[in-house]
Order: sequence, then structure tokens, then C-alpha cells
Amino acid sequence: MLPGIAFVALSALLVSGQNSSPQPVRYTVSLAKANEHLVSVRIELPPGPAARTLQLPVWYALYQVRDFSQYVRSVRTANASVAIQMVNKSEWRISGAESGAEIDYDVLADARGPFGAQLNSHHAFFNLAEILMYSVDARRSPIEIRFTDIPGGWRVGTTLRASARAFTAANYDELVDSPVEISAFEENDFEEDGGHYRVIVDAVHGDYDMNKILPMLQRIVSAEVSWMADRPFKTYLFIYHFPRGPGGGGMEHAYSTAIDVNAHTLAFDAYALESVTAHEFFHLWNVKRIRPESLEPPDYAKENYTDALWFSEGVTSTVEDYMLLRAGLLDEHEYLSHLASAITELENRPAHLTQSAEESGLDAWLEKYPYYREPERSISYYNKGDLLGVLLDLKIRDASNGTKSLRDLFRWMNSNYAQKDKFFLDSEGVLQAAQTITHSDLSVFFEQYVAGTEEIPWNEFFKTVGLQLASKKVESADPGFTVARNFDSPLTVASVAENSAAERAGLAKGDVIEKINGHDPSGNGPSDNFANALAALHPRERIHVRIRNQRGEQELNWQLNTRSVLEFRLEDMKNLTLQQRARRAAWLIGDSEPIGQAHP
Ligand SMILES: [Zn+2]
Repeated sequence: MLPGIAFVALSALLVSGQNSSPQPVRYTVSLAKANEHLVSVRIELPPGPAARTLQLPVWYALYQVRDFSQYVRSVRTANASVAIQMVNKSEWRISGAESGAEIDYDVLADARGPFGAQLNSHHAFFNLAEILMYSVDARRSPIEIRFTDIPGGWRVGTTLRASARAFTAANYDELVDSPVEISAFEENDFEEDGGHYRVIVDAVHGDYDMNKILPMLQRIVSAEVSWMADRPFKTYLFIYHFPRGPGGGGMEHAYSTAIDVNAHTLAFDAYALESVTAHEFFHLWNVKRIRPESLEPPDYAKENYTDALWFSEGVTSTVEDYMLLRAGLLDEHEYLSHLASAITELENRPAHLTQSAEESGLDAWLEKYPYYREPERSISYYNKGDLLGVLLDLKIRDASNGTKSLRDLFRWMNSNYAQKDKFFLDSEGVLQAAQTITHSDLSVFFEQYVAGTEEIPWNEFFKTVGLQLASKKVESADPGFTVARNFDSPLTVASVAENSAAERAGLAKGDVIEKINGHDPSGNGPSDNFANALAALHPRERIHVRIRNQRGEQELNWQLNTRSVLEFRLEDMKNLTLQQRARRAAWLIGDSEPIGQAHP
């Protein structure tokens, strides 16, 4: 999304003396019913066609159809001459609107987190696509939006432009790419290398320390802007929530990001905040501007498929850790241990032999279903994509004698696609870019590991940086059940092994897990805290699980079984060569090796 384009078109029309520039669509969003979590919306459509179609997106922010219209009630018009009729669950037809129309409705906004829309007595946070319909014929028209009935002491935090009477956006796409926080938040800002950064925190005072957040942000934005040699914005906004309850995740936008980190996690795990921040900030290039063509323009009415999510999401995770290394927020030992854990995760999912990275991205829309998330059914395009980013980087270095790297791939894609307002040809486009910068044929790599499910010969890649992968079978606790959790739903039992101790103890599919050994297993990430809770368990010890189901709450306990898991770690090869050392040093800060120093 590139603001300014619509203005160029508009001023060109004015200069040519025509008067046909589109009139704005006006939205009024009232917070008067905060106690009921109800947002009252008025849409004012300017004069135009008599018949229009209003659409509410069925998805936004996550690659999941969430049917936001399930929360919409009492759609009506205030105009006697206008009629409105439902066409399908997310679409309404308006007639008699030649002189314009005013449409009113209420929408329940009670979904927390960076992917949601929430209004309560504490704050409002909106992904506007989840509450605002658009007129299909006027999706490119300019927008004016006003927020009314704002409680005293609350302010509006957003990257939408403020004018005297309203906030404005060039069009609906830009509007919904601009999340809005309205509350008594704390705001700060800083300048870094000519960029202006705003930081909004809506959390309990004392749960966070702005004096720690700001220097962390300065290091991350400085590392990423210099790595890309590009800063395609003047101002960028970080919106943070640190909820005390469950919550976590981040959502990227072109000029901002919204990030949730559980307050307890924030207190003891600095990496949780740093990693999601580095990830979402890098998305301002990768996915927001370096964008697969299949996602453009987004079709809000149905699923949008791309086979490049392994790159857009997974390789963003690769870069996230590179940038933390570069910013001095992560050291080599920690990084190699993250990398080895990612390999352990992939290798222990049987589906790594049946589902490719590309397929995993196409299947993203199934992630809301518990069975889909079973290790026999799916891999994660985050997990495999993260690893493919590392392997592709090492491959590019190998093919270019160290003179090119993942950084050159991103810079090339940035200048040849993003900066030319072009989109890349999904997964195939990444291959083309990698081949262009290395002048070599990388099609086998893509066939085998990106489109294919061949076992990855890890050591062939890692030996170029003097590392080898070692594995050992470790006995770990087998809880006897698996869990699934969608981004905003509680941790739920997805399956219970037949004849297991868990089954005998009374655990059943569908039970909500509230505590494991006294600890809340929810929190950050899709499964992180549960994985951590499991990792802390020992074979043959007793597990105490507090569950909730239709019969109420119950405390169950049983003795854990054992299972063996293949655990990987990365270790130094013996007698590292100068070349391996130089390659590793460059790799660990995301640099290429200077041409003069490259080794034949
Ligand atoms: Zn992401």
C-alpha cells in the first residue's frame, strides 16, 4: 500500500479542470455503547449509482475466514427513498441511492489482540476491516472517518491522517491497514537515522518499562533500516498491549504494527518482545511492500491463496533473528540453539515428509481446524520457512563465493518489485530473484525443499559455516494428549491417546486446559507456552491438569508416560578453515563477505 497514489490522481484531475474526482465515503464510529462492546457505525455514501453493494470482509489480519458479519446486527438506512437488502452473509444490496445513502448498523467488538476488534470500558482497538463495510464500487474512493462518544481522557492513536474534522485515508485498503487504538495510552517517540517513530503502550503501569522499550526499539529499527538500506516511511507507529491474561502475537501494517505480549512473559523474557517486534517491523518490507502478486489486490470476500507464505512469513522469521544478532540483542550461542530447536520441531513432525512448504502456505486457511494442526497432518510455514531462509542464505553464499547473501536477495526484490510498485510472482519469483543475484541455477533447491518434501541434508549446508548437526534420542514425557488452539480461543484438547493414562484419568477431546501443574499454559504464540510447559515435565512424574468442560471445572492427574524424541543441536566442526570462520562471521550478522576477502 502506497499512500499518495490517490492524491496524485486527484490533483491531476483538478489540474485538468475536470470535476469528477470521487467524493469521500464518510464513516462515523461511535463508542457510546462500550459497556456492551457494541460499536455503532454510520456509513455515508456520496451521490452516485442508484444500486450499490456493501461488503463486510470475511477475513483480515489472519489467513483465516472469520466471517466478521456474525457480529453485525440491525443493518438499516435512515433514508426513506433508500432500500437495503441482504444478499449473502457478508453482502448487502442498496437501491435508490442516487442521491447518496446513510447506512447504520451495530457490530459487536469483543475480540482481543492485534488480530481483533475490541471495545470495552478500558479501551478500543480496531482492525477496521472487521467492523467497517465498504461499497464495492467505491473501494478506491477517499475516506473520512470520525470517532465519536470517546470517553474523557482517551485519545486516538493511529497512522491515519488527522484533518480538522476527521481522519482521512486515500482509500478503503489504506483505511483498514491502519489500526486504531483509543484509550488513555502512554505515548512516546524517538528519531533514528532520520525516521520518526511513535510508541503507544496501553497496559497497566508498572507492568512495563518504557525506558527499556525505547532503546530496544532504536537498536532494532536501526539494524533493519541499515540492512535494507531503505526507509520507505517518514513516521512509523508501534502499538503495544501487555495483557495480564492470555494474549500474544503481532500484526504488520505498512506504517505501523500492533503487538501483544503477555505481561508476565514480558517481565521475565526479553526475547518475547524483541523477536515479535523485529519480525513485525521487517514485514513493512517483506509482505507489505515486497508482496506476492497473488495477494494483490486483496479479495476481502474469500480466501486469497499464495504458495509464498514460507517466504513472506517464514523468511521474515529468519531475518528477525539475524536482526537481533545484528542489534546485539541475541548472541551466537542463543541463535544456534534457536536454530537447532526449529530443526527439532520440523524433524519431529511426521508431515514434513508429506506436506511441502508451499502447500503449508496454501493450507494456511485450514489452521483454525484442530485436526489440521496435528503433526501427522501439517507442518508450519513459519517453522519450515524460517529454516528455508537460513538454507537459502547459505546456498546463495555458497553459489556466490560468499559475496552475496539473503540481504542481497531482499535488497534486489525491494528495488525491483517494491520500489517499482510491482509484485513478485509468488514462490517462483523468489527463485528468479535468487538466481538473478547469484547467476546460478537454484531450481533443484526449490524443487526439493520448497515445493518438495525431500529430507534436508542439513550438514551439506551447515558445513559451509563450520557447523554440524548432531542428534540424540531423548526420553521425554508423553502427556498422552495433544492440544490445539486458534489465535483467540483457549487451549483445547485435540486428541487423547487410546488406553493412555490421560484417557483413564478422564481427559477428553474438547476439554479446555486452564492450568498445567499450577501454571497457565496459554500466553504467547500458537503453542509456545504449552510446549514450554511440556518441556518442563519429566517422564513418569505426575501431571496435574485443571480442565473446564460442560460439567464445570475439574482437577485431573495421572502419571506421565515416556516417549523418545530426536533432539538436534548444532556444534562446531573440528579444525575450522579460515573460509568457514569468515563465512560464519558474515552469516551471523546478515552481511555478505567483501569481494576482496572472499575465498576461492
Ligand atoms: Zn509474520
